[in-house]
Amino acid sequence: MTPKVQDQIQARRTFAIISHPDAGKTTMTEKLLFFGGAIRDAGTVKARKTGKFATSDWMEIEKQRGISVTSSVMQFDYDDFRINILDTPGHQDFSEDTYRTLMAVDSAVMIVDVAKGIEAQTIKLFKVCRLRGIPIFTFINKLDRQGKEPLELMAELEEVLGIESYAMNWPIGMGKEFLGIYDRHNNRIEQFRTEEKDRFLPLDENGGLAGEHSMKQTSYYTQALDDILLLNEAGNDFDHEKVKTGKMTPVFFGSALTNFGVQTFLETYLQFAPTPQPRKTDAEEVINPVSDEFSGFIFKIQANMNPAHRDRIAFVRIVSGKFERGMTVTLSRTGKTFKLTQSTQFLADDRETVEVAVAGDIIGLHDTGSYQIGDTIVGGKRLFNYEKLPQFTPELFVRVTAKNVMKSKHFHKGIMQLVQEGAIQYYKTLHTEDVILGAVGQLQFEVFEYRMKNEYNVEVRMEPIGNKIARWIQNESDVKESMSSPRSMLVRDRYDRYVFLFENDFAMRWFLDKNNNIELYSLL
Ligand code: GDP
Repeated sequence: MTPKVQDQIQARRTFAIISHPDAGKTTMTEKLLFFGGAIRDAGTVKARKTGKFATSDWMEIEKQRGISVTSSVMQFDYDDFRINILDTPGHQDFSEDTYRTLMAVDSAVMIVDVAKGIEAQTIKLFKVCRLRGIPIFTFINKLDRQGKEPLELMAELEEVLGIESYAMNWPIGMGKEFLGIYDRHNNRIEQFRTEEKDRFLPLDENGGLAGEHSMKQTSYYTQALDDILLLNEAGNDFDHEKVKTGKMTPVFFGSALTNFGVQTFLETYLQFAPTPQPRKTDAEEVINPVSDEFSGFIFKIQANMNPAHRDRIAFVRIVSGKFERGMTVTLSRTGKTFKLTQSTQFLADDRETVEVAVAGDIIGLHDTGSYQIGDTIVGGKRLFNYEKLPQFTPELFVRVTAKNVMKSKHFHKGIMQLVQEGAIQYYKTLHTEDVILGAVGQLQFEVFEYRMKNEYNVEVRMEPIGNKIARWIQNESDVKESMSSPRSMLVRDRYDRYVFLFENDFAMRWFLDKNNNIELYSLL
């Protein structure tokens, strides 16, 4: 590999923003793109809220609901870095893709609403990041509004998420009285709503504001200094090693909407965020990003981005080497080779063709049905597979049938393909073999229904059976089919493993009380 390509790889930073809806992910992303002067923007971020970009490329369902179905990729340059932000959709558009996107990043930025603290969806996404041990950077947002006490939020991070925290900066006042942030990392105070030239004030050797300043007379300043003193004495020390392994999160305060603290955040983030990381194969071999051979894995397949072509896009995280348009790669699972001419990055109203991309980048490959989620593609002669992507425990279930029984062959074929692609999870009841589908978000069902109709010409009937707690069984041989009941339904998954679908937590505990020899486990 040439030194130039090595440098390009070292300059990559690939992350996802995780947050609960409304915490400010869209606003933050916009500001980041603004600093970078986005060079590639998948369009979803702004478009879904401002309608600024063309929707021609989106699935019908996206248009109807005005949301983006799957996460997408934005790329921008800042200083000497090239940054890839992977979108993680929330709310109703939350799906397994949201989780899988976290498999393709090297770090995560967690946005927390200062008034709301740690919310449900943040916890879910955080847990997935946690399992991967990737660095997590926290941005506490909306400081221009009144919120919780900063010390309380720090405690919440530790208590609710179980992660050590280190405040990189600290708010001085809040809401109407928000004066700025005390920047521990850069030894300065950054003033809120102040012209660029006056914005930064240096600290003296005692850690107080140098010279005379009206801010010094305020109680907010005194309070902030008291808090800092407390953090210095009783708080965690900054530990880069812990940050690297996701055991400690650096915390930043700011306000994305007023663009305050975002640039400081970005610059500090870039200083500590990881370069593209090596990845293990299923034979435990570690593949280095700077190795000569190109390789990557597919973490998402997006269907029908362009309904006119009924095509699919397979999103590839490049793990090693360099991608060049027209290169030949092998799909490890099948041994089949492809010439990659139709690679795309996404622009709002145009798909921009990528000529070159390196480890850390995400490329979209035109797919006519060859790829599956989790597939590895390699550029060299030696074939290998990256570690399997985890399967996630679904929470929503429907019973599904074909409206027209004559279509049952297409029905099963469609389901099997969509299941393999990772769009939805498949279960069947014992004996009657009714098909039950599982998902982590409601949207997966809607996409399923839409695609069955449009791609397989089958109309389906879906009968919600509600939220369930799905649990797999450690000691399958001890399971008796008589253990199945309406409140603890026993089914099989696509690999024929037994799964219990419990109506709720209470039903699960009741079951375990009665059958204390059964050991249950959940997927991620
Ligand atoms: P998302 O759902 O996480 O993408 O959140 P958005 O970025 O769409 O923000 C949700 C709402 O919070 C919008 O009305 C934003 O204008 C508002 N918002 C975002 N950041 C801030 C902030 O720093 N201060 C205030 N006051 N409002 C904000």
